[in-house]
Amino acid sequence: MSENCIFCQIVAGDIPGRTVYEDDTVLAFLDANPLSPGHTLVIPKAHHERLNDTPADVAGEVMSTLHELVPAVEAAVDAPASTVAFNNGEEAGQEVPHVHGHIVPRFEDDGGRPIHALVTDRPDLSDDELDAIESDIVAEQA
Ligand code: 5GP
Ligand code: ZN
Repeated sequence: MSENCIFCQIVAGDIPGRTVYEDDTVLAFLDANPLSPGHTLVIPKAHHERLNDTPADVAGEVMSTLHELVPAVEAAVDAPASTVAFNNGEEAGQEVPHVHGHIVPRFEDDGGRPIHALVTDRPDLSDDELDAIESDIVAEQA
């Protein structure tokens, strides 16, 4: 548990949350300021700030919980679709520094946008630049 972390306080039961799924590793609860009905957050119970800091087995459990919950959340609010995403780091808009996946149910004509609307000024990358990025990412995994 991290002091002053609001999601750790929800895990500890110090702050109430509307829990929709819980096991030893993962907690899922309704977002307090939902973007749509059924907006759900899935978190590891242990405090990890970003996906980058999260052990692979824990990240896998978060992902499998998202996989289980997406159809349940959509069915519960009668949504035909959902946006499933992580704001991974402050510059990406992450406000609560305890890693969490969002399930945002989506509806026809809900006024929402796709993930491609995140960025308005897209970079114009050449083939050489794309090739360099490809090999840099592969090299980072070595
Ligand atoms: P972020 O911007 O970090 O990806 O998203 C944080 C999310 O946490 C926001 O959607 C916000 O509404 C939600 N949130 C912030 N504080 C609380 C809280 O105390 N309880 C719950 N259930 N959600 C919260
Ligand atoms: Zn935390």
